[in-house]
Amino acid sequence: MEKLEGRQSRKKVVAVVGGGLVGALNACFFAKRGFNVHVFESREDIRKAKIVKGRSINLALSHRGRQALKHVGMEDKIISKGIPMHARMIHSLSGKQSPIPYGRKGQYILSVDRANLNKELLSGKRRQKDAEDLNDRRSDGSKDQIHADLIVGCDGAFSATRKQFLRRSRFNYSQTYIPHGYMELTMPPVNGEFAMKPNYLHIWPRNTFMMIALPNLDKTFTCTLFMPFEDFEKITTGDEVIQFFQSYFPDTIPLIGVEALKKDYFRLPAQAMVSVKCSPYHIGDKCVLMGDAAHAVVPFYGQGMNAGFEDCIVFDELMEQFNEDFCAVLPEYTRVRVPDDHAIADLAMYNYVEMRAHVNSKWFLFRKYVDNVLHFFLPKTIIPLYTMVTFTRIPYHHAVERWHWQNKVINYGLLLSAVGAVLGGSYLLTKHSQQVNNLAVPAEKMWTRLVSFRIPGMMTTQM
Ligand SMILES: Cc1cc2nc3c(=O)[nH]c(=O)nc-3n(C[C@H](O)[C@H](O)[C@H](O)COP(=O)(O)OP(=O)(O)OC[C@H]3O[C@@H](n4cnc5c(N)ncnc54)[C@H](O)[C@@H]3O)c2cc1C
Repeated sequence: MEKLEGRQSRKKVVAVVGGGLVGALNACFFAKRGFNVHVFESREDIRKAKIVKGRSINLALSHRGRQALKHVGMEDKIISKGIPMHARMIHSLSGKQSPIPYGRKGQYILSVDRANLNKELLSGKRRQKDAEDLNDRRSDGSKDQIHADLIVGCDGAFSATRKQFLRRSRFNYSQTYIPHGYMELTMPPVNGEFAMKPNYLHIWPRNTFMMIALPNLDKTFTCTLFMPFEDFEKITTGDEVIQFFQSYFPDTIPLIGVEALKKDYFRLPAQAMVSVKCSPYHIGDKCVLMGDAAHAVVPFYGQGMNAGFEDCIVFDELMEQFNEDFCAVLPEYTRVRVPDDHAIADLAMYNYVEMRAHVNSKWFLFRKYVDNVLHFFLPKTIIPLYTMVTFTRIPYHHAVERWHWQNKVINYGLLLSAVGAVLGGSYLLTKHSQQVNNLAVPAEKMWTRLVSFRIPGMMTTQM
């Protein structure tokens, strides 16, 4: 034992603060490298807890998150318990359902259960060598203390680790609460089967608010209603809940159930959503922030956890590149990662703010259509932003730059085509006016056909 202790003492000790999704995954990465990892979690161990409190019940896992899980040998295990969602299913007010695929055939995102993912990651860490579990408080209130070579702050959007950074000079920090809150409602199975088609992310876009639903393994759906707090607060009785649903989500009333709706709506108050940006992510060679502690993003791109998981791969790649030298790895991590995390925070906010303004614009819908057609014919040259973000590991800020570049090229191309069409049309009109008249299709009809190819989805087409 003595000898073993002696040999182990040469191993660096890593203290991970926060045993949520990113902290637990990070512990797997460090343990895989042979570090002596301690996880400090302020809540009860989720693997033993009877009731799991916290944020969204399920989440969409996409390529970046999967790649991180793959690095620690957990991808297959997690995806075996995920439900593929190949398309959004848009529910109109009349109850009409229209699918919009996420990408090309075979491209999908996965609905995964947050609690299960967290438990698997914590257990995954345990299976790695030399990882230990510690709670930072013993039952008698005293605290465990360790000497750590590196502190990794993965303690979420309200990070206590990050508070220490705030005391320091040249630390930039901003946080923005959006006016919307969210509330989760459960849609139970019908006769033991899913109440709606399971392999879709269902969306009810309703201009200033919307509801989405993701499938769970127990054949329920978790519906999340996103709405301005002031609208949540206007609904104060069970009857008002039903009236509201009757006006905006009538098809969901029989599926969720009148009594369940009346009860669930008041079970918990709507939760707030915050966007946090900061820089740098490190202090010397001693402390580093990852996941929501470094960059909480609003959930309208389905990337918060995926970005946090990608933080872990990026850090691990730098550990490889710099031979685990924290002095080199930490500053480089800040240099590489801050622009990408800021880019996804901006994109998520853009989606939240701008989509509401754009979604009813025919030009916006037409442009989306053009992007998809061009991607089909030139898959390597024109890649829709959603595809770059969700199905590749193109660094987020490169994806944004490329998106701007693509927009310029496509808009320019469209302008030239329009000018060409006008000139050509004028020429035809003057030369062959009789024949052209016979061929003409009403412009309004053409437009309706074109636009109906894609269904409007405010705040949603990127989810
Ligand atoms: C409604 C909603 C839907 C979302 N949907 C998606 C989605 O579809 N896809 C996606 O990728 N992301 C999604 N996200 C974002 C995702 O939930 C977060 O990005 C992710 O949970 C971040 O993980 P984390 O481990 O960094 O932080 P957290 O999950 O917040 O975990 C932090 C952990 O630290 C612990 N802790 C806090 N303070 C301390 C302390 N002082 N000491 C010790 N422990 C502490 C907490 O108890 C917690 O366990 C969604 C978020 C919301 C709100």
